[in-house]
Amino acid sequence: MQRLEAYIRNIPDFPEPGIQFKDITPLVKDPAMLKLSVNQLIHPFLGQNITAVAGMEARGFIFGTLAAMELGVGFIPLRKPGKLPYDVASMSYDLEYGSASLEVHIDAFAEGDRVLLVDDLLATGGTAAASCKLVEKLGAEVVACAFVIELDFLKGRDKLSKYDIHSLVHY
Ligand code: AMP
Repeated sequence: MQRLEAYIRNIPDFPEPGIQFKDITPLVKDPAMLKLSVNQLIHPFLGQNITAVAGMEARGFIFGTLAAMELGVGFIPLRKPGKLPYDVASMSYDLEYGSASLEVHIDAFAEGDRVLLVDDLLATGGTAAASCKLVEKLGAEVVACAFVIELDFLKGRDKLSKYDIHSLVHY
């Protein structure tokens, strides 16, 4: 996946010292790379009877919505607290300092939905693991998780060992 990698910009020490931030804006700005990344994200799941794509705020919305459209299914936003207007289910997870949570509308999934979870990047896996739990809490099944980027050294996969993980670019 050499071509995609050339469009991911590394920003050292953002948003804090020691973090190598992977900036996907050059990738999504380029029409050919945007299309390539979405096609590669969904490729293993064509013919797997995915019935919905869920994506995490905010960069999961970019890739998740396009992935849903290509798969011919709808998109479910998993949002930061207080953003969704209707009744929500929520799931908290630990960060390095403190905690965070994600919310989803309680009627977002139908019983038996087969969900592909999409985000831009898998780091420690806390966000994705909480997202999977949130989807399952509402009675849907997580078929797999797909990421444009995986930071292998953070071993996020270990938190997602129950699930099929698909990533395009590894660091
Ligand atoms: P984690 O819960 O640790 O797997 O973090 C994943 C979430 O944080 C994703 O939604 C990413 O967008 C964001 N994230 C974490 N680390 C980075 C990084 N080095 N560069 C860009 N985004 C990151």
